[in-house]
Amino acid sequence: MKRAIYPGSFDPVTFGHEDMIRRSAEIVDELYVAVLNNSSKNPLFSVSERVSMLSELTADIPNVVVTSFDGLLIDYMKEIDAQIIVRGLRAVTDFEYELQIAEINRVESPTVETIFLTASPNLSYLSSSIVREFASYGGDISKLVPARFIDAIYAKYGITKKEQKIEQ
Ligand code: ADP
Repeated sequence: MKRAIYPGSFDPVTFGHEDMIRRSAEIVDELYVAVLNNSSKNPLFSVSERVSMLSELTADIPNVVVTSFDGLLIDYMKEIDAQIIVRGLRAVTDFEYELQIAEINRVESPTVETIFLTASPNLSYLSSSIVREFASYGGDISKLVPARFIDAIYAKYGITKKEQKIEQ
């Protein structure tokens, strides 16, 4: 049984994350999508809001479990008995940081493997921070996030439906 974890902030979840989840769920037996409860960041969505968005989005994928965790990823992996970490690589800028994290995780927990999926070319520009930046100015985020979350994202910036610059 290959149980993997795809950890992240998912603040908010994007089409890039969805693509990663669907592709990795095909490779492993069970995929935990885990929201990191990072107290040092000031998030747009609470952990429970992010968990429910991800649960809604992945409801049709039988081998996906959505959870959250705090503390060290490798400690949480022991708790759920996961052996594989899934991360995405969009550009070289992701690589240096991801390599460092993968190496330290291997030093701390030698049985853990990190696998990387390269971003789908049409989504490699996409990040949660780009979504937040665009949404904060009422920009069109319809190509960045699933339609069902658009209103909730704008609402965080006090932008009403009328003020959204979505192309119809
Ligand atoms: P973190 O704060 O851990 O970087 P994110 O929610 O930003 O959390 O991203 C979680 C993971 O998803 C990371 O491995 C990141 O590289 C990957 N990811 C984010 N956006 C994309 C995308 N558009 N395509 C592929 N992978 C992505």
